[in-house]
Amino acid sequence: MASDKKILLTTAYIKHKNDYYDWVGSNIPSKIRLSRPRKISYALRFIKQNLPEVEILEYPTWDEYEHALAHSWDVVGFSFYINDIYKIKEMIKFARDNSVPELWGGNYGVLTKGMEKLLDRGFIGYSEPEIAKYLKKKLTPIIHPPIINDLEFGPFNVTRFGVLFTTRGCTHSCKFCQTPVFQPNSEVVPLESLEKVVKYYKDVGINFIGIFDENFGLHRKHAGEVVKILNKYNMYWACMARAEYVAKQVRTWTANGGKFVGAGVGIESFNAEALQDMNKKFDPKKIIADLLTIKENNIGILGYYIIGFENETERSIKRNLIKLKDLKIDLNQITIVTPLPKTQLWNDIESKYGIFEDDYTKYDTKHLVWHHPNLSKERLEGLMHWGLSMTNPRKSIMRMVFRFHRLLHINEGFRGFGMLPRSLYYAKKFDTGGYKIFFDTENGGLLRYKFDLDHPV
Ligand code: SF4
Repeated sequence: MASDKKILLTTAYIKHKNDYYDWVGSNIPSKIRLSRPRKISYALRFIKQNLPEVEILEYPTWDEYEHALAHSWDVVGFSFYINDIYKIKEMIKFARDNSVPELWGGNYGVLTKGMEKLLDRGFIGYSEPEIAKYLKKKLTPIIHPPIINDLEFGPFNVTRFGVLFTTRGCTHSCKFCQTPVFQPNSEVVPLESLEKVVKYYKDVGINFIGIFDENFGLHRKHAGEVVKILNKYNMYWACMARAEYVAKQVRTWTANGGKFVGAGVGIESFNAEALQDMNKKFDPKKIIADLLTIKENNIGILGYYIIGFENETERSIKRNLIKLKDLKIDLNQITIVTPLPKTQLWNDIESKYGIFEDDYTKYDTKHLVWHHPNLSKERLEGLMHWGLSMTNPRKSIMRMVFRFHRLLHINEGFRGFGMLPRSLYYAKKFDTGGYKIFFDTENGGLLRYKFDLDHPV
């Protein structure tokens, strides 16, 4: 018989209404820009979809958290990242003071030293199977929840897009990355579930999908089937994947009406020695050739580039950032080499140079946290800001918008002119009244969920 244990899972709390991590804001150095605030916890949405009896709170205010804890729980769990740790510690203390019997932790933050002492249980990797065991439930194959992200401009939603995770985890072993520690094997999300969520997006007027797998194409055959689903529903889509894979697939993905429009690719570095040291089996010349192939096919590129490897100097970084600028990629995310807990890079840097930063909010890849042999903290962070401004000029964003419009026109004819305004219209119209939407796996249809134990839906 299933257990009736009561579980509440929450993210870190927010201090004020704009206290969300914004990827765009931390990478595009302009005040007038779009933003994509992280208001949704993908991890908690997956857990709730697959184990509906678990209650979730996403980025609550402190008052909401306090109010939630007034109900009696067998377990309160925290899903967090390293830079959330101070808030999570406050939340843990409050839960202990209020005699919550058991406290859990999950997501990448649990890899941080010291957290194991504060929690009764830490979950490394995707936790649905373990939570199901705790609830004495049999877990069915994983079900993908509907997840709709906003792109905002000031206070307005300008568009919405559907999020898709087709696989979870990564089998590669890049030295700086926590994923091989967190989820070293990779599982596929069943195709039936993916089709169901893509159909849902289409039904609510969403024509754009972002595939957020760490590395789309890790399971080649499955990825091929996913593309067929996207084509069936006539979806525009983008993914995060290796440049080599995207360059190889780009013609197939855009043939016969395929609407692949953009890729986030790890360029990582033009520094061959550093790439080798990071276990990245890349040749910088090959990456450049692959990026050019992707560009030739009119596909938007978001490049992930890292600076501050141990053998780099101000001169070599500047030289390579200029090379990056000359590639005229649409958007570049530039980060600083950051040793993250439990990675091989952490051990190497700690023993060789020492890690000086003990403020975990600085482990956001935008700060230097270790003793670099050639560069000071100020200089390296200055180079990153310089690189971000230089490689992301406003005209490259305009170029991307223009190209996308052109592509819509080519694909949709005159209808294409109306697609973006229509998207704006749906962004405004699509309003769930604060409810989170899940599939109702017991009765069919949809479930509207809001954490409100005082007034259950
Ligand atoms: S950086 Fe990407 S490819 Fe490398 S281990 Fe992490 S998720 Fe996998």
